Amino acid sequence: MSSSPLSDPAPEKGTALPQSQSVLHPPHDLLSDLPHTLALKSSVQQLIKLSSKAEIEAFFQTGESQHALVVSGGSNLVPPELIKGVVVQPCLTGVELLSQDSDHVWISVSAAENWHELVVYATAQGWFGLENLALIPGWVGAAPVQNIGAYGREIKDFIELVSAYDRETHAFVTLDPSECGFAYRDSVFKQNPQRWLITQITLKLSKVPNLVLGYGDLKQEAGIIPTPQSVLEAVVRIRSAKLPDWRQIPNCGSFFKNPVVSQAQADALTKQNPNMPVYPAAGGVKLAAGWLIEAVGLKGSREGALAKLGPFERQALVLVNHEPGVATQRDVAASCFKVTEAVHERFGVWLEPEPVWVDSAGRIINDPLGAKYVD
Ligand SMILES: Cc1cc2nc3c(=O)[nH]c(=O)nc-3n(C[C@H](O)[C@H](O)[C@H](O)COP(=O)(O)OP(=O)(O)OC[C@H]3O[C@@H](n4cnc5c(N)ncnc54)[C@H](O)[C@@H]3O)c2cc1C
Repeated sequence: MSSSPLSDPAPEKGTALPQSQSVLHPPHDLLSDLPHTLALKSSVQQLIKLSSKAEIEAFFQTGESQHALVVSGGSNLVPPELIKGVVVQPCLTGVELLSQDSDHVWISVSAAENWHELVVYATAQGWFGLENLALIPGWVGAAPVQNIGAYGREIKDFIELVSAYDRETHAFVTLDPSECGFAYRDSVFKQNPQRWLITQITLKLSKVPNLVLGYGDLKQEAGIIPTPQSVLEAVVRIRSAKLPDWRQIPNCGSFFKNPVVSQAQADALTKQNPNMPVYPAAGGVKLAAGWLIEAVGLKGSREGALAKLGPFERQALVLVNHEPGVATQRDVAASCFKVTEAVHERFGVWLEPEPVWVDSAGRIINDPLGAKYVD
């Protein structure tokens, strides 16, 4: 693997894989802050960085690894106050040009490369396609997990292979797109969170620009004669104007998925609310979750349950943390209930959270707004 041309994505916290130390009962001073962009009060008993395939293999052969949660950049996480166990951070880096023909390149990128840096690097090399996905936070290894998407593109459009360690068979494997179960913000990796640790992805990018400009203001922003570079810059401008920078105002991006309802329900809703945006979607009609939250008057609200975390004043779909390091997963749940109940009461539609919620054992919670959403 070549060395990384991108910036070092690994945060400061964490330790190398210990050879002999028990991670089941670590001393208190080993507690690490959990790296995540929502800035909740949250720590973990042990955070272990795995920097090579040999370290990954060795780690997953220990008993302590059984329930270990995999975390990369932490930009899609709602963690509890304390994870009583181990969190592993895959820290493999490198970008390699595998092959090319007259129209395409095939590149392999390791899990800990920063996603946005990859988009910038690929575009500068003349390897096109990723430009609409600029400025999505997080690392490359997490990108297939929820099939990251923005402005009419998804990572599935470019994936040729996902390389991973299979925790069930204890072997390194490759999955082709037909095995990845990619769907809207979904994949087999999201459905089976304890199974694969993604080590690398192979992308097929185009040497010939093939711009997708049909979404939102992109066409207008990208200039009279748009290029991949101008599209990338337009995406950065639009996103920077709309979305809060998590370093200044902690958040984890869009907090709710856009709900898909039946055509009959959509018709009834648009009859009562003629301005309601609706989009065709597989299995029905997609509504805009941000519009629904704004319509119930909660955009920018800091009232009651929304005091610590609430819908951002410029984009209601993003929950922002007003009390970094103080607010907890419970506060996120309280805020979520307030929003989802208000939307349900007015429109009869339940919103579903998009980020990954984690319990105190480091397990991913499938139904975070169900009875077991907090410990
Ligand atoms: C401001 C902001 C804007 C955002 N905008 C978008 C957007 O436009 N579109 C979009 O799709 N998302 C968006 N997101 C969500 C987020 O950036 C993506 O989901 C991103 O891919 C998460 O990457 P991460 O490295 O932070 O993953 P993490 O949050 O660390 O992990 C996310 C999930 O992936 C799993 N995981 C992480 N690494 C691996 C690995 N190597 N192998 C297996 N499993 C792994 C984790 O266990 C967890 O379940 C946004 C987030 C923020 C904060």
